[in-house]
Amino acid sequence: MNLELHYPDDVLERYAMGKLSALDYVPLEQNLLICTACQTKLLAVEEYIAVVRAALAAASPRRSHRRRECLISGASDFYNEALVKAQ
Ligand SMILES: [Zn+2]
Repeated sequence: MNLELHYPDDVLERYAMGKLSALDYVPLEQNLLICTACQTKLLAVEEYIAVVRAALAAASPRRSHRRRECLISGASDFYNEALVKAQ
């Protein structure tokens, strides 16, 4: 019987951004202490958030819409690569 609990990406994203409710926060942190799969996934999510933030910061309003989309799709490629590595 597998007792390991794995959290979906969107929950880990909210955790990484500090947007998780206190009720969800504690069990998730307890899981992170023991579950390497979730730890690895959280690292990938944190890297993804950092890349997206950097991309958004780099995309000033003066730049074209196309340039901004290019930066964001680059970030999602990076995220997919990180997920593949995490498996
Ligand atoms: Zn897990």
